[in-house]
Amino acid sequence: MKSDYIWIDGNLVPFEEATVHMLSPAIHYGLAVFEGLRCYETINGPGVFRLREHIERLVNSAQIFGVLDLPYDVQDLFDATLLTIRANRFTECYIRPLIYMADGPLGLNLDASRPAVSISTWEWGKFLGDEAFSKGARMIVSSFTRLHPNVHMTKAKISGNYVNSVMAKTLAVRAGFDEAVMLDPDGYVAECTGENLFIVRNGVIHTPPRATILEGVTRDSVITIARDLNIPVIEEKVTRDQLYIADEMFVCGTAAEITHVAEIDYRVIGDGQKGPVAKQVQETFFRTVKGEGTRSEEWLDMVPVVEYSTGI
Ligand code: PMP
Repeated sequence: MKSDYIWIDGNLVPFEEATVHMLSPAIHYGLAVFEGLRCYETINGPGVFRLREHIERLVNSAQIFGVLDLPYDVQDLFDATLLTIRANRFTECYIRPLIYMADGPLGLNLDASRPAVSISTWEWGKFLGDEAFSKGARMIVSSFTRLHPNVHMTKAKISGNYVNSVMAKTLAVRAGFDEAVMLDPDGYVAECTGENLFIVRNGVIHTPPRATILEGVTRDSVITIARDLNIPVIEEKVTRDQLYIADEMFVCGTAAEITHVAEIDYRVIGDGQKGPVAKQVQETFFRTVKGEGTRSEEWLDMVPVVEYSTGI
């Protein structure tokens, strides 16, 4: 996870010096919101996939959480993200912007602390592992329930929310699986711990509606790509047993990209191989992020080739 610089509140700070204080409210109560993006090496140089949508979701997460007086707007954070990638000279990387409650008295009143912003970048391979990516992921339905939308806000990437994901993921990995599928408080399929989920039945893609899930940027890209390819997509409630009898299942997220699922709860999905719909959507997705798709221009923001002063 090494890089030369981490952007903190307008400065490019050397990696080793980018630390927080022990009494930062962010680490005691999870008082932070974050984003996850990827920069790809495209045929035209490094490009960030759907940068504006991610930054808008970051600002929306802060708004949902209730952060008042965020000192930066979408354009500031958009520019700072490109600057950070360029300063670190990455051609491909993962990007992690974080708005965190940096200081102030330890307490539960958000308004007592000050929001600070950091942007970190690092080189990151396949999130669910190379084997899961090539052979298909093995998953299990979690015994932990996904967030209730009026307990934790499911549309916001609030750091504290992710304890739910961490517990489900850890249990699944300890049991020998790659990832957990989480059910919403009503028992319908919601999403994975860090990915949205799709099944294919008779050539039609079905995916859970947005009510209890994170509105994934990759999910939106998958739906758009599928419709471009004339593959019908239905957003409707999905049940656990519908996973068992799906022809295909795949998950998507910025970190996991698009990964097919070979097995759920010890039931093989289809013939256990990547199905034709997942294959077509995945191939189009990877062409797009490399700059060779019909939506590449719309969805990629290129990292400018300019020298930045580090401000130090
Ligand atoms: N669901 C959850 C819970 C996530 O953490 C993520 C990762 N951000 C996703 C879905 C996928 O979202 P995206 O495609 O925007 O990365």
